[in-house]
Amino acid sequence: MSSSPLLPPSTLGILGGGQLGRMLALEARRSGYRVAVYTDERPGCPAGQWADAEFNAAYDDRHALERFLQRVDVVTVEFENIPDACLEIVEAVKPLRPGRKAIHTTQHREREKLFLRGQGIACAEFRIVESLAQLEQAVQELGRPCVIKTAAFGYDGKGQHKVNADTDLADAWKDFEGHHAVVEQWVPFVCEVSVVGARGVDGRMAVHGVVENQHAHHILDVTIAPARVGPEVVEQALELWEAVAEGLDYVGTMAVEMFVTAEGRVLVNEIAPRPHNSGHYTIDACITNQFQQQMRAICGLSLGDPGQHTPSVMINLLGDVWPSEKVHPDWDAVLGHPRAKLHLYGKAEARARRKMGHVNVLGETLEEALESAIEIKQALGIPV
Ligand code: AMP
Repeated sequence: MSSSPLLPPSTLGILGGGQLGRMLALEARRSGYRVAVYTDERPGCPAGQWADAEFNAAYDDRHALERFLQRVDVVTVEFENIPDACLEIVEAVKPLRPGRKAIHTTQHREREKLFLRGQGIACAEFRIVESLAQLEQAVQELGRPCVIKTAAFGYDGKGQHKVNADTDLADAWKDFEGHHAVVEQWVPFVCEVSVVGARGVDGRMAVHGVVENQHAHHILDVTIAPARVGPEVVEQALELWEAVAEGLDYVGTMAVEMFVTAEGRVLVNEIAPRPHNSGHYTIDACITNQFQQQMRAICGLSLGDPGQHTPSVMINLLGDVWPSEKVHPDWDAVLGHPRAKLHLYGKAEARARRKMGHVNVLGETLEEALESAIEIKQALGIPV
């Protein structure tokens, strides 16, 4: 270890109040750390429910930030869309892990893409555009289909427009007018995979392995761990994760989402500077889960063994599964299953497409986990 580690009962500061902060708080408190959450959400947010202290204020509220910073020993983020001015205030006072450069780069698609290109990391071909004329030029160069994505603050397919053979570019551009956009070549992928791992203060890395992700309406639906891909794909995916982590001088848990092409090439799609939905299976299926690794990394401890001990399938629970905003589904199919674990995020209202929780299903074999996952999805009314 390169600097003296923060041991319990040090206080971890988390910027953001969602489920990723909640699961980090649970993990950290289990080990005797204290947790302070800073969020612009109302009191009682998912992370705040498990924190020792919750600060509810805007990310540009300097006084509230100062009070928060007095309380904590290290700061991390549970979502990337934190204004840079806030990160600047934080890093001047307390260690910010991952650092400002990593968050600043990955919170903005244009910066992220330029970083990947600059590092020579494989990704879909792209152009940055800021006018209809530039869009027309880009589409001509990249060919159809392609996809226009907002440069800033996009996630889960929000702010995207696919350009098909018959798409009118002037029409498509209307949503992006006045902004920068990234135009990306369409990748006819055979599957989507991701790698979640952590890098410590000392630069050592520990990754959980390659998992397979299936999306519905651009939102993660199911993660299959491990991914059903060959060793060449695994090798490329792990190398790409390491190249990104090194390039960003990363500290903490990070996810890289990737496309696998029919020729077996792996391309980076997106980087998340935090734990990731596709890493939730690690809670029940790995020796050290992604939140424990985040805690260890940001505290300057050595990382744990990331190895997976049991095949697993993670099923996302979106608000659509709830019969109504306040009426819970019948959890019997999950809680009555001997190898399924229910994780709920403590959100009061279930809205369509809102991430409310997930189920980790374990199996002696991956096939068994997949069969159980299909049964559970059917019982909950989730399309299979
Ligand atoms: P993103 O928000 O960029 O992760 O995109 C959400 C989803 O849209 C991805 O998980 C893919 O399923 C799909 N997608 C995004 N970009 C591309 C692309 N260039 N080629 C094919 N599919 C894409």
